[in-house]
Amino acid sequence: MRYLLMLSLLLPALPVWAAAPRAGVARVDITPEESIWMSGYAARKRPSTGVQMPIQAKALALDDGRGGLVVLVAIDIIGLPAALSDRVAAEAAKLYKLDRAQIVLNASHTHTGPMVEANLMPMAPADNAELKKIRAYTNTLAGKLVTVIGAALGDLSPARFDFDYGEAGFAINRRKLEIAPVDHRVPVLRVTAPNGQIRALLFGYACHNTTLTAEFLEISGDYAGYAQAQLEKEFPGATALFFMLCGGDQNPEPRSRRELAEKHGGELAREVARLARTKMQPVEGRLRTAFQLTRLALNNMKQVNYPVQAVRFEKGFTLIALGGEVVVDYALKFTNQYPGERLMVAGYSNDVMCYIPSLRILREGGYEGGDSMKWYGLDAPFAEDVEERVTDTVAAVLQRVRK
Ligand SMILES: [Zn+2]
Repeated sequence: MRYLLMLSLLLPALPVWAAAPRAGVARVDITPEESIWMSGYAARKRPSTGVQMPIQAKALALDDGRGGLVVLVAIDIIGLPAALSDRVAAEAAKLYKLDRAQIVLNASHTHTGPMVEANLMPMAPADNAELKKIRAYTNTLAGKLVTVIGAALGDLSPARFDFDYGEAGFAINRRKLEIAPVDHRVPVLRVTAPNGQIRALLFGYACHNTTLTAEFLEISGDYAGYAQAQLEKEFPGATALFFMLCGGDQNPEPRSRRELAEKHGGELAREVARLARTKMQPVEGRLRTAFQLTRLALNNMKQVNYPVQAVRFEKGFTLIALGGEVVVDYALKFTNQYPGERLMVAGYSNDVMCYIPSLRILREGGYEGGDSMKWYGLDAPFAEDVEERVTDTVAAVLQRVRK
């Protein structure tokens, strides 16, 4: 220790040390301890009956060694409302000095997890005792998210980052109309220790975690839960983190059987594992983050708050993290719009306030186009400038991280 101290006094600005990137990982179990109301299907009429697999929140802190820092949090949960994310961010600001742009909270959108207060409340039970349990669970979850962010920061140690894309084919466009885009890419960010040990695999997919349908009453992470568990078995000591991408209009196919959730998860895990064993493209340079809260107009003159975030390394990786149940059109659009960026476009980040249709889907109507709004307590579809407002805000945050 004293020797190190002397060295650092002799060589106060050793550039190699100064620019050494670091990463930290942490996890916390968020499985409810008792039977609780589940979220995602209005058809459910009773609370959970057991636990099929534990659900978790995992944090990955990335530090560029030059002052750039972000904590990516992957949570096996239906969706976080803004009130919960704001509370976690405020605590993290106080305890860890992180600003809002340095925390990304992504929900896997599992439909076999507990209900979270203020998210999809029209699906909540009428029973007061059940509502109290949902509130208690939400409070506990907030505390755990703050803790896991701190634990990831406490785990920071030298690492290198690499990024690439794989592919998995089980997502289908669930709208079943003539125009039915999908995004089968599987972006993977690999975090490796200096000794070559894989420490973390952050991966995403644009597809609802709805293999397990309304009749399933046991807590589970659905295909994403199976994929993460499979990867952690295959890479001992590594943490696998799933980010839900722009799968607002995408479902796994086929579905409705437990074995199918396991099968889809297995397909995803095999692709991530295959990629993790290849060279992949290096992620380097300065890390910058930006967060902007904008407003999206409904066609009844009301507005909803909408968070848009970007996380970018100078070379090799750009994350766009959007709020809401974002449809696949957005990921495809930004991929075309920013061909020079190595993009991962996530939805379900920081706030899930409703579906976010593209202009095409808004005009087509249907569930993602407006019928779903009532489940989020909103009584009108979006105004026609919704896509333009989202696109403009993405351009604004990207400009800030690309400078
Ligand atoms: Zn959904």
